[in-house]
Amino acid sequence: MLNQVEVERLEAEAVNSAKVRQPLYAARKKIFPKRASGDFRRFKWLVMAITLGIYYLTPWVRWDRGPYAPDQAVLVDLANRRFYFLFIEIWPQEFIFVAGLLVMAGIGLFLVTSTVGRAWCGYTCPQTVWVDLFLVVERAIEGDRNARMKLDVAPWSIDKIAKRLVKHGTWLLIAAATGGAWIFYFADAPTLVLDLFTGDAAAIAYITVAVLTATTYTFGGLMREQVCTYMCPWPRIQAAMLDESSLTVTYNDWRGEPRSRHPKKAAAAGRNVGDCVDCNACVAVCPMGIDIRDGQQLECITCALCIDACDSVMDKIGKERGLISYATLNDYNANMALATGGGMGPVDPALTRDAGGRLSDRVAHFHLGKIFRVRTFIYLAVWSAVGLALLYALLSRDRLEINVLHDRNPQFVTLSDGSIRNGYTVKLLNMIPEPRTLAISLEGLPGAMMTIVGVDQPEGTSYSVPVEPDRLKMLKVFVKLPKEMIGVGPLSFSFIVDDRASFESDRYTAAFNVPETMK
Ligand code: SF4
Ligand code: SF4
Repeated sequence: MLNQVEVERLEAEAVNSAKVRQPLYAARKKIFPKRASGDFRRFKWLVMAITLGIYYLTPWVRWDRGPYAPDQAVLVDLANRRFYFLFIEIWPQEFIFVAGLLVMAGIGLFLVTSTVGRAWCGYTCPQTVWVDLFLVVERAIEGDRNARMKLDVAPWSIDKIAKRLVKHGTWLLIAAATGGAWIFYFADAPTLVLDLFTGDAAAIAYITVAVLTATTYTFGGLMREQVCTYMCPWPRIQAAMLDESSLTVTYNDWRGEPRSRHPKKAAAAGRNVGDCVDCNACVAVCPMGIDIRDGQQLECITCALCIDACDSVMDKIGKERGLISYATLNDYNANMALATGGGMGPVDPALTRDAGGRLSDRVAHFHLGKIFRVRTFIYLAVWSAVGLALLYALLSRDRLEINVLHDRNPQFVTLSDGSIRNGYTVKLLNMIPEPRTLAISLEGLPGAMMTIVGVDQPEGTSYSVPVEPDRLKMLKVFVKLPKEMIGVGPLSFSFIVDDRASFESDRYTAAFNVPETMK
């Protein structure tokens, strides 16, 4: 089969591999990734479309919360200190929900990394997605790998200047759209977009767009793989999360080595020949500029494009796909033991094949059951427990609250009739987007009466107070206790707030201070 098919041999070197490691401050060697095609590439297109779609379109999704709340589905309302996510509204004191989501994201990352390796890096990390998008633009304007390499070393000409201007201009437009989309999460998007173009937006909006445009353009267009290799801590951290059962992109040298550019001649000369025809297709497509055949490397983001490239070569030469594949270390070790006769000799790929030349049944293959193990289930259980706890807290949280602050000075006032008066600042929190009339009353201090400053009602034990939708109402409240009632009961009592329409209520226990001589 080998002599019937021409495999294109690419002049590609791993500019970023362990064998030719560049010093940190050396000038960057450019990488010109070749276009890949195959199942993983198609999957990456899909993930890219979904993630970019979510990022750019979410601020434009509307969500009807009634006339008293914004209608943007996802909104971080910094001015009013609220976070809206679909039907959920988070107040500042409920930040625990955001913290809980971050904890879930962290555990989720542990779960994903321990099972399918650096899938986050290869498919969904914003750096990966935007570099992919910038590469699409670069290929559309300058052509695929060979054309780009040629253009790069060509002397400056009208054509080269025009292509570079269009490429960098498009990159800047994408970067500006990225920065622009970000600020739409913090204000009403349709209003803000108009304000941006008419010059009426706040200065911080323009500054944020400018900073994000610059970082997106620099990281996605100019620095690319350097961000992953030198700036991101995740490649260092993830090593602690992988184990022998985690999936990683693996060059299966137990069937690929010894590699040969002329396998037929080598076989005729009686030499062992592996499946790798040393075509460098896997190196040419790698966006990180590495050669996966050098083994596991920190730079590998497991984007699987080298799998696609190698699979198409294997198809051409009539070999089984999977010379480069997602594999666990356990499977790799088992197959290597098979190819070396239990570690007794050098790699002999013939030992992994049956009499018909096909891969032997004894070769270990990946199946889903291998990644589900105790560790996976522990991560899954902790992740689910945090999620359920958050859900319970969310569904059972109060939408009505009362907070009370006793006046510090004076602690009490003795009135002309001998009664004692204490002052309080009472905060009523109406956390629904509807106006409410709330009843505030006292409990546990017999004989006490209260007055509310600014409320035109005689002193009493209960007041009705209107509170605006989704607002906090602050009241100045005085509580008076006749001198003959002091010492009759305990000197602590409760402020109670009730919404008689929804039957919600809350209470706050406060102290009533009196002179030492009256205790
Ligand atoms: S070696 Fe393969 S999986 Fe790793 S970054 Fe390069 S192309 Fe992606
Ligand atoms: S591993 Fe596959 S793609 Fe890479 S050089 Fe060998 S045959 Fe070519």
